[in-house]
Amino acid sequence: MRVSRFPLSTLRETPADAEIVSHQLMLRAGLIRRLSSGLYTWMPLGLRVLQRVERIVREEMNRAGALEVLMPAVQPAELWQESTRWDKYGPELLRIKDRHERDFCFGPTHEEVITDLFRREIRSYKQLPINYYQIQTKFRDEIRPRFGVMRAREFLMKDAYSFHLDSACLAREYRAMHEAYCRIFARAGLAFEAVEADTGAIGGNISHEFMVLADSGEDAIAVCEQSGYAANVELAPTLPAQQPRPQPQMEMERVATPGQHSIAEVSEYLGVPSDRNIKILIVEGAEDELVALLLRGDHELNELKAEKHPALAKPLTFASAERVEQQLGCPFGSLGPVGLEGVRLIADYAAVQVSDFVCGANQDGYHLRGVNWGRDLPEPETADLRSVEHGDPSPDGAGTLTIRRGIEVGHIFQLGTTYSNAMGATVLDEQGQERTVTMGCYGIGVSRVVAAAIEQNHDQKGIHWPDPIAPFQVALVPIKADQPEVTEAAEALYGELTASGIDVLYDDRDSRPGVKFADIELIGIPHRVVVSPKAIQEDVIEYKGRNDEEPSSVPRDDIVAWLK
Ligand code: ATP
Ligand code: MG
Ligand code: MG
Ligand code: MG
Repeated sequence: MRVSRFPLSTLRETPADAEIVSHQLMLRAGLIRRLSSGLYTWMPLGLRVLQRVERIVREEMNRAGALEVLMPAVQPAELWQESTRWDKYGPELLRIKDRHERDFCFGPTHEEVITDLFRREIRSYKQLPINYYQIQTKFRDEIRPRFGVMRAREFLMKDAYSFHLDSACLAREYRAMHEAYCRIFARAGLAFEAVEADTGAIGGNISHEFMVLADSGEDAIAVCEQSGYAANVELAPTLPAQQPRPQPQMEMERVATPGQHSIAEVSEYLGVPSDRNIKILIVEGAEDELVALLLRGDHELNELKAEKHPALAKPLTFASAERVEQQLGCPFGSLGPVGLEGVRLIADYAAVQVSDFVCGANQDGYHLRGVNWGRDLPEPETADLRSVEHGDPSPDGAGTLTIRRGIEVGHIFQLGTTYSNAMGATVLDEQGQERTVTMGCYGIGVSRVVAAAIEQNHDQKGIHWPDPIAPFQVALVPIKADQPEVTEAAEALYGELTASGIDVLYDDRDSRPGVKFADIELIGIPHRVVVSPKAIQEDVIEYKGRNDEEPSSVPRDDIVAWLK
């Protein structure tokens, strides 16, 4: 591409209203322009980066076997009423009326639309599993749009939705998506961390966020280097701010006797009424063995700590949930509400009768859950609690926590049957029985990835794109272009580089080299080659990588192969 045909819209001044460096640099490098609050136009240069990210995402989703679709951005209210989210979603949902006064929304996400598509299209278990994805514009009426495309109102998302007959199949797809996400962010050249996450308004059980590590990140994440534990601080356990409160009397027993126990037997054994207050807690045991413990009473986890049983100091984490799966040799429902399948597995493991548990669990509206501080256990007085901090012990007891900032670029969920139940998404199973499918969903903020990449890759002079997402790989700058042999040599090199498949930005402007160099550094092209009378004489090309202090000379004949 010739700069004479591809105007660079660079700015020297830092725009006053841009708070973080990626927003400043995206404006200064001419990647985006603001239309209105949270609404941005992608300029030609910015769009090239966005499309490169999109391409990596598409290639990895295809490689993982997902099928690309493109759904409407505008969605009828009826579907949202069916899922009950029309009332729940709140003001982030942009609601619109058509000329007939019918209600619609501009999609902030597509669970309803895809579930509707699924229930119309897919009839048999033989067509499962299936994973549909799209790369499409979303709208969320963010309360505080800011940081440019980082938190925009209109933005580009890759969203995928998978459908399964059972949770084992869902767990497999979830792992496949987890791996695909790791490949995507690694290929985009980003330093990231996958962390356990809250499921928020989307609903469901297990969930991980993919965080690009950057000081400007809006999320705090707690990481334990020793064990690999990593969670959004929102989700990480809170700790007592002052002295732990006096420990109430409580009893707990490991159900060690093999054989079947009814809930009545268990409650008699523990001396609690059978219809309430029995919780199942799965913790990691001492010799790395998993044990199921039946607990009575409504105590907080921090009251059950090491004093009673060392394993109790370790609430169940996703990492150990995976280990539960390994140990049980079958999928473990979730960390959140375990659901009937989870109850069955726990009951099998603890050798207690499942039907009784299910019935016991359902009485009194009580739900059996895996343990998660603050969410599953009674909410303690907030005054007594604080968030985890740098240096706190990690919840799995394996080491200490480091707190880092992160930018959420991806989020995957095991949704379960929330949407399929509400909207009647079923298939016929092998026995010809109608079965409600179980779902997963997987999002990537494609446009946010561009901003996140800049947060991680920049210096005083501007952006430094990771090669795979750079708008151009190479910038070609002729010096003293008024000399015919320079123009000739530059044109020849431009032709050769282009022919060999390298994306070249050829700065054929009539400006001073200093201006061109500054622009190239600002827009972050990873490699720069210079053709000058001196270089021609020495039969070399002057090369400078974006991070190099000084240029170096590369023999003219080697330059193309060298850049490839
Ligand atoms: P956030 O916590 O940043 O508000 P979210 O949890 O609401 O994000 P999800 O519903 O998980 O977002 O959507 C999937 C992905 O879409 C997010 O991981 C993020 O990368 C991207 N995303 C969400 N909201 C925005 C936004 N306003 N602007 C740009 N990207 C966004
Ligand atoms: Mg949000
Ligand atoms: Mg979030
Ligand atoms: Mg999210």
